[in-house]
Amino acid sequence: MSLNIAVCVKPVPDSEYYDKITIDPKTKRVNREGIPTIINTMDKHAIEAALQLKEKHGGKVTVFTMAPDSAVENLRRVLAMGVDEAFLCSDRALGGADTWATSYTLFKAMEKTGPYDLILLGNETEDGGTAQVPSQLGEWMSMPHMANVMSINHEDQAVVVERKTDNGRIRYKIALPAVLAVIREINEPRIPNVMGVLKAKNKPLTIYRVADLDVNPDFIGLVGSPTQPGDIFAPDMSRKSEEIAGEPEEIADRIIAEIKKSGVALG
Ligand SMILES: Cc1cc2nc3c(=O)[nH]c(=O)nc-3n(C[C@H](O)[C@H](O)[C@H](O)COP(=O)(O)OP(=O)(O)OC[C@H]3O[C@@H](n4cnc5c(N)ncnc54)[C@H](O)[C@@H]3O)c2cc1C
Repeated sequence: MSLNIAVCVKPVPDSEYYDKITIDPKTKRVNREGIPTIINTMDKHAIEAALQLKEKHGGKVTVFTMAPDSAVENLRRVLAMGVDEAFLCSDRALGGADTWATSYTLFKAMEKTGPYDLILLGNETEDGGTAQVPSQLGEWMSMPHMANVMSINHEDQAVVVERKTDNGRIRYKIALPAVLAVIREINEPRIPNVMGVLKAKNKPLTIYRVADLDVNPDFIGLVGSPTQPGDIFAPDMSRKSEEIAGEPEEIADRIIAEIKKSGVALG
């Protein structure tokens, strides 16, 4: 059976520029102005998994992103990997979304363009890193969902997956349609080649505004976000240092005394 596969990909700040990221003191939101974005690493593994399943069983791979218009560039790179189509949900009203509002918006875009046999995501992002969106999307889609997936094989109307655990791995057979979040161990993402880049220019990439999506306005963006950021601050990383002079025993005694004074338990 060929597979109609959806993959969620998030543009995240390029780690090369982390030192340039600031927090808006009023909105408590990450100020991404002028910070280049890249596709979240684990999402590239999700794309690669989808492309390998398509090459083996036939079908189609479609990606979904909720992000500002600037994400078009990232999506062209994803299309160059071999993805067939891309949808970008972009609208000011979607800004400030927590994971619940994000997963709802992705659900509505898939509901409009589906149905899908399989939905793949990365296990977590490099910026928010909550790992909440995959299971929330599974709930919105009323589909079985699983995280920490490190292998996927398609059999009949199901997939056989291996899930990484602290003590090894467990194999499951999951009836389709299903939502799976993958980890880095699943594969090595391909690098787009020149032909891929050229073909990507003509592949369909659609921008959805809120008006294009049959959404409940109370469920999107900051308004639809039960989780509101409290205080965000950069932890004090400054270090206090002092040079201790004397005989080795004196120095050792002094250090032990300082550690005890700090309340740290010595073994
Ligand atoms: C520092 C920081 C802390 C945050 N803390 C919280 C918090 O505690 N609670 C909360 O509700 N929100 C939080 N947010 C907001 C949250 O990052 C956004 O809602 C985000 O869109 C989804 O959450 P995530 O990055 O944690 O995704 P995760 O759940 O870690 O992402 C898992 C997978 O879901 C998919 N995915 C996630 N976001 C998108 C997207 N926008 N478009 C397409 N696919 C996507 C990707 O495949 C990704 O690999 C935080 C944001 C930041 C920057």
